[in-house]
Amino acid sequence: MVARPARLTPPLECVRLFDADAQLDGIIAIHSTALGPGAGGCRFWSYPDMDDALDDALRLAEGMSYKNALAGLPFGGAKAVLRRPEGDFDRAALFRAFGRAVEALGGLYVTAEDVGTTVADMQEIAGVTRHVAGLPPAEGRAGGDPSPWTARGVFESMRVAAGHVFDRDLGALTVAVQGTGNVGADLCRRLAEAGAQLIIADPNPARRDRLQHILGARVVDVADIAAVDADIFAPCALGGALTDASVDAMKARLVCGAANNQLAAPDVAARMLERGITYVPDYVANAGGIISVSAEYLGEDEEHVAARVGAIAPRVATLLERAAREKRSPALVADEMAEEVIANAGREAA
Ligand code: NAD
Repeated sequence: MVARPARLTPPLECVRLFDADAQLDGIIAIHSTALGPGAGGCRFWSYPDMDDALDDALRLAEGMSYKNALAGLPFGGAKAVLRRPEGDFDRAALFRAFGRAVEALGGLYVTAEDVGTTVADMQEIAGVTRHVAGLPPAEGRAGGDPSPWTARGVFESMRVAAGHVFDRDLGALTVAVQGTGNVGADLCRRLAEAGAQLIIADPNPARRDRLQHILGARVVDVADIAAVDADIFAPCALGGALTDASVDAMKARLVCGAANNQLAAPDVAARMLERGITYVPDYVANAGGIISVSAEYLGEDEEHVAARVGAIAPRVATLLERAAREKRSPALVADEMAEEVIANAGREAA
């Protein structure tokens, strides 16, 4: 099959953030506002240089456009990426400075947690702008840490995908989980409850050892997790887990996880198809977090969140059936479906 070209398109707006006093150094990338304000979390990470941070921000913002569109949310795609300062720094001052930058955009961008940021950081940001979510929830309202919703959506997606690929329950399968942070650990608990065998890897000993003891998971080195003898591979760390090399070495027949931007390059999806590995596109399975965050921003209650997260797995089932029928990668089919939603919004607005 012919590989699809990279789908990176120029962002609508890219704002460079710099405040020497607050040690703020980063970028807000707004990829699309066709469906509403650009919504996407704030990543706080040690990037070697600004080019790396920019690259991550652009890819993540684009992914948010596709994710929000396919999840049926009234939001476009955006992302903030902040470089973590070396040595000591005033975390509260840094996030307040970031909040002021969000406020200056006047609602064009709505932020929330991502890798490296916490509810406490969002509370700092909320002191200077209302365009933030992921705050402690008010009674009966959506809000708080979105990770459990993300894990729920990934788990349900994996369950229907396992039925599609193996015609078996998760209890009869072995799942290799890469990264046992907020989402990965929650996913592991759900999988253990369902009776799945677990193999895990995480460079943080505290995070992985706890699960080894509580859930009886087998621990392997981070370098080996993608190639272990498992039925399902669940990338739940950072992006880029799916490369030509990792796909060639993979024994799993299904990939379904929480990490954003799992494909190191778009044509890796074609290689997975050739090797008979079914890929549940990351942004389809992991939309639970943004569903929670957007409901909080819109002042909706938890029932709305549960209903929208409950719609993820049936969407995955439809997507996998269509991809199998058309003998195409689910990644391509999902992209087309999302692009259609965005294009239709543009037409409606015109
Ligand atoms: P987290 O920071 O809590 O967890 C990430 C974990 O990955 C950490 O424990 C880290 O030590 C581990 N890790 C880093 N490099 C690794 C490697 N090479 N091999 C194995 N483990 C490694 O983050 P999280 O909130 O659990 O998010 C995980 C992924 O899911 C991220 O890609 C994030 O963008 C994505 N995601 C998260 C949410 C959410 O609600 N938190 C929503 C959508 C997508």
